[in-house]
Amino acid sequence: QEDVFKKIVSHCKEYGFVFPSSDIYDGLGAVYDYGQNGVELKNNIKEYWWKSMVLLHENIVGIDSAIFMHPTIWKASGHVDAFNDPLIDNRDSKKRYRADVLIEDQIAKYDEKVQKEVAKARKRFGEAFDEAKFLETNERVKEHIAKRDALHERYAKAMQGPDLAELKQIILDEEIVCPISGTRNWTDVRQFNLMFSTEMGASAEGSMKVYLRPETAQGIFVNYLNVQKTGRMKIPFGIAQIGKAFRNEIVARQFIFRMREFEQMEMQFFVTPGTELEWFPKWKQTRMAWHQALGFGAENYRFHDHDKLAHYANAATDIEFKMPFGFKEVEGIHSRTNFDLSQHEKFSGKSIKYFDPQTNESYTPYVIETSIGVDRMFLSVMCHSYCEEKLENGETRVVLKLPAALAPVKLAVMPLVKKDGLPEKAREIINNLKFHFNCQYDEKDSIGKRYRRQDAIGTPYCVTVDHDSLNDGKVTLRFRDTMEQERVNISDLASIIEDKVSI
Ligand code: ATP
Repeated sequence: QEDVFKKIVSHCKEYGFVFPSSDIYDGLGAVYDYGQNGVELKNNIKEYWWKSMVLLHENIVGIDSAIFMHPTIWKASGHVDAFNDPLIDNRDSKKRYRADVLIEDQIAKYDEKVQKEVAKARKRFGEAFDEAKFLETNERVKEHIAKRDALHERYAKAMQGPDLAELKQIILDEEIVCPISGTRNWTDVRQFNLMFSTEMGASAEGSMKVYLRPETAQGIFVNYLNVQKTGRMKIPFGIAQIGKAFRNEIVARQFIFRMREFEQMEMQFFVTPGTELEWFPKWKQTRMAWHQALGFGAENYRFHDHDKLAHYANAATDIEFKMPFGFKEVEGIHSRTNFDLSQHEKFSGKSIKYFDPQTNESYTPYVIETSIGVDRMFLSVMCHSYCEEKLENGETRVVLKLPAALAPVKLAVMPLVKKDGLPEKAREIINNLKFHFNCQYDEKDSIGKRYRRQDAIGTPYCVTVDHDSLNDGKVTLRFRDTMEQERVNISDLASIIEDKVSI
């Protein structure tokens, strides 16, 4: 699985999806650039989200707020005081780690041990293997599970607070070693704020410390009144936004899964106090349905309900997707109560109340938030779509089986040969379609090679123009996944493709 992931990462680079940032300067940690195909796929993901959230919901509108915001916003939201990771240093390697991640990795190690035992037993017993019974009765496995559960409980307790001395003690008790030096020479655990800051204004007139937003949500909260009033919005209603967010992540790994500059698609849904726990499951279902509509298989998703809640939340869940490195969070759905709006009331001194014309009462709305990372969504789409297929002739083809609606290029048009008027005919076809779909013209190399190139970037349709096309107005349409070919009228191309690729 790790190997597959490595292949996906290099495929992303080789085919213009994702490059390390500042590549010619050997990159910049956990920062990435999207290439010519990546940007198209990313835009399609954003469009798929925006259409389903904003256009399909009459009571949801969008905004685009600035990345810079008044610094007091981050005081009010709690980010200045509490948006921290617990860090620990190893004195020998001089490397810095997140204490919580070291412990979570240790928990995962117990799980791996269990899985190994299960795999061994399955091999031994074959068809007759009963996993549930094995987990309950095998002494070694029971011991691993008990250790894992005890560690998990101790860890969850230490993270409330968090209790930094206890986190260090867990690391010592579990004999966790530094992955680089292999030693247990740990410093104390201390808190590290994840927000990036910079200075605004020239120093002569007095500059102000401002933050790069670590989430887009606060831009929605501080615009709540503006949008509600100018849009004459009635509760329940939502505000959606897509934009960049920045976090000084210490453990930057797994490619674009955890980045320092990333993009979020967030929606805050404002509801009457007391109804939030009715809306929460509705949004859980709506968001899960959105993911599953891509057709990646329901078994690749799961909810992870939080039992440890942030102080302002009264319910929270993650939608996790099965990446090559395990089930991982792609989206969070949180019932945030009226915490943010009432904090902004307090810190700004402005009333942010909603007047309900039906009951003649004013109140601070409660909020259900859906928050998904564009880049993590991108990664899940890539991981699911990447396929290596053995062909009948013994060759392997690498194909990205992207949902057609998300594919960067929808259609490649290829003249069979570079002469006899075929290139001109191919260009004519493209000229008629290029305002509707992203098309590519390709005349270089053999048709087989050209098909492979399109397979590798996930183009769902290839059209080949041959000599007959000049007489009968037909072309060969080749389907990416089945590699089947069909003769179709040039005049029918637009509707055939439109049917499958529209978002
Ligand atoms: P994690 O626990 O993985 O750090 P989180 O719980 O802090 O994530 P949220 O604050 O709920 O994440 O952010 C909402 C979404 O934003 C996440 O579900 C994820 O898709 C995305 N996201 C958060 N941090 C990053 C990051 N560093 N890089 C890429 N995407 C991110």
